[in-house]
Amino acid sequence: MATLRFKALEEVFSRVPKEFVTSTQKASDLYGQLVFNRSKMQKYLSKEAYQAVVGAIDKGSRIDRKIADQVAAGMKAWAMEMGVTHYTHWFQPLTGGTAEKHDAFIEPSDNGGVVENFSGKLLVQQEPDASSFPSGGIRSTFEARGYTAWDPSSPAFILEDTLCIPTIFISYTGELLDYKAPLLKALSALDKAAVDVCQYFDKDVTKVIATLGWEQEFFLVDEALYQARPDLALTDRTLMGHDSAKNQQLEDQYFGAIPPRVQAFMRELEYEAWKLGIPIHTRHNEVAPNQFEFAPVFEEANLAVDHNSLIMTVMQNVARRHNFVCLLHEKPFAGINGSGKHNNWSMATDTDVNLLSPGKNPKGNLQFLTFVVNSLMAVNRHADILKASISYAGNSHRLGANEAPPAIISAFLGTQITKMLDQLEEKVSESKMTPDEKTELKLDVGRIPEILLDNTDRNRTSPFAFTGNRFEFRAVGSSANCAAGMIVLNAAMAEQLVIFKKDVDTIIDKGIKKDEAIFQVLRKYIKESKKIRFDGNNYSDEWKAEAKKRGLNDEANVPLILDSYLSEKSIKLFKSTSVLTEKELHARTEIYWETYTKKIQIEARVLGDLALNHIVPVGIEYQSSLVKNVQGLKELFSDAEYKELAGARLELIKEVSQHITTIKAKVKAMVDARKVANKIEDAREKAIAYSNTVAPYFEDIRYHIDKLELTVDNEMWTLPKYRELLFIR
Ligand code: ADP
Ligand code: MG
Repeated sequence: MATLRFKALEEVFSRVPKEFVTSTQKASDLYGQLVFNRSKMQKYLSKEAYQAVVGAIDKGSRIDRKIADQVAAGMKAWAMEMGVTHYTHWFQPLTGGTAEKHDAFIEPSDNGGVVENFSGKLLVQQEPDASSFPSGGIRSTFEARGYTAWDPSSPAFILEDTLCIPTIFISYTGELLDYKAPLLKALSALDKAAVDVCQYFDKDVTKVIATLGWEQEFFLVDEALYQARPDLALTDRTLMGHDSAKNQQLEDQYFGAIPPRVQAFMRELEYEAWKLGIPIHTRHNEVAPNQFEFAPVFEEANLAVDHNSLIMTVMQNVARRHNFVCLLHEKPFAGINGSGKHNNWSMATDTDVNLLSPGKNPKGNLQFLTFVVNSLMAVNRHADILKASISYAGNSHRLGANEAPPAIISAFLGTQITKMLDQLEEKVSESKMTPDEKTELKLDVGRIPEILLDNTDRNRTSPFAFTGNRFEFRAVGSSANCAAGMIVLNAAMAEQLVIFKKDVDTIIDKGIKKDEAIFQVLRKYIKESKKIRFDGNNYSDEWKAEAKKRGLNDEANVPLILDSYLSEKSIKLFKSTSVLTEKELHARTEIYWETYTKKIQIEARVLGDLALNHIVPVGIEYQSSLVKNVQGLKELFSDAEYKELAGARLELIKEVSQHITTIKAKVKAMVDARKVANKIEDAREKAIAYSNTVAPYFEDIRYHIDKLELTVDNEMWTLPKYRELLFIR
């Protein structure tokens, strides 16, 4: 009966590591081979076209149609030399992942043959038949068209035989339907607001970019075992499975040697990433068995987001070539760590200053403090929307479950910065300051140690941690599009910096000097944002109690967390920064609720099916074998002997029966709950019903299945077990 499982195991044991991909080319030669980057543009574009694209990247200027024709021709020439036959507009819909529709370059020609064609028109705009992408009610079916539009600030690249052009995705009536478009708007709002504030410190600053360095965690599982686990194959996570006797308790995996099969995969993935211009520089094991991490050097946020979306595709493709499946789900296995995607975030000026890095002089340090304190204010005001941005079905298994992210958003600063902020709060007067006070303050600010970088303590439990020269937004889930969090964070920071500028200017207008005005506003902000600061253990019960006292939001239910997107405060945030309209917010939230419902719905179905057609039959088979055994004992032995011998077996039969009966009953109850929930029309109410009345059965049913797994004859069990899934040899 258990053929599939054992066949898969046999396959796994016969695997030999694939040869390491070796290349005679240096990484620096490989780098960017598949990207239409600046050096390629210089080669394939006229000077005029090259400058137009560079202007679009650096200054956001528009590219006219004639130039677009030239760019398209250059791209096509390069792509065809690379053996490419197709092109696609590559975009990031709200369902997650990336979408593409491939078209061949060819077009019929007059003489009955074909010619390769790729015009500026095709580069700039396309209408994918996108009626199946969710629009949250914006696109009614009769005008089901949406269109994609070229984002020249992210370079085109080649995947397999296809030229991919990064694009935004918009409805026919102009509403934003993807992640990239609002991200670009948030980044542009931040640019403007941050430049205005930088002007207090340095008149040379004309552009500020957000920087993002993501750390991508993932699991690998052997493909054959994955195929033998329908729950993994259909939901990306295991819905059942008893703990492996050994899992992560020895912590022997973290930074341990990477197994050879995995190393071969990593090596090839690195090559692929480099060819695509993704600057991967770290790879290591993570805490859980079979869990790994990949991180690049940080980049401008829009590019970094594209690169993360792209690497998620490449990871899955390369994994298959090594007989692995790459699991990006936040919680593929119960009982061991889940996977996140830390988003390291900062801002940088065109004068090459990292705004979250302490300066070399008091002026630089005041600018640094300004940006740190304003970051705190932004997080303080919009903690609930930041939480919404990382909340979906997959990440809900981590949310508040004693691993990152906790359900309460707070910020960690470390002892050094905390001390500095305490001093500021203490020493700045509300009215005009005395010369002594000023001198003292200048000294304090000047003293922000440059060694801070190596000195920052790490807090691995904080959802938003300062790490010396950036904040690390650690709550993001491994399968997420980084843009979701980056849109909120950058928009919140933009809004905050505008408020800051206004506050400072108001004081300056009263005749107080600029530096002192800044100090006064910072002091007020330090007080105001105190409640979001927490340096202790974010998983502790003390923190939960303390956070309640502080009035921090501790909602852990995903459909309810999503409500934050539609609060008055949120609508104001997105409107004032021109990132999203109220209509767009409603549409997006609707999509998030729908997606949540669908995920739970699929999991419920898969769990129900597996319980009824894998687990229960195996339980019954085992039970029958026990019954036969007991009957045999009865025939062979005297009544007295039989009683003594059969006791344990009879207990076992009862136990197995009880689990089977309970599983059947609970599955039926879950199906009934689903039927009730399915009748609900309203997307929010439906998601809540799925969360409150369907999802709770998962753990319950699983408990009994896992007990059976432990009891039933190993030879009969059809599904690969955790101990088999979790250890790559
Ligand atoms: P750790 O695991 O200790 O957090 P990693 O080296 O794995 O550190 O990841 C740190 C990430 O932070 C890298 O992607 C790095 O490029 C990024 N990073 C460093 N400085 C900045 C910055 N100024 N802005 C954004 N990201 C940054
Ligand atoms: Mg990190």
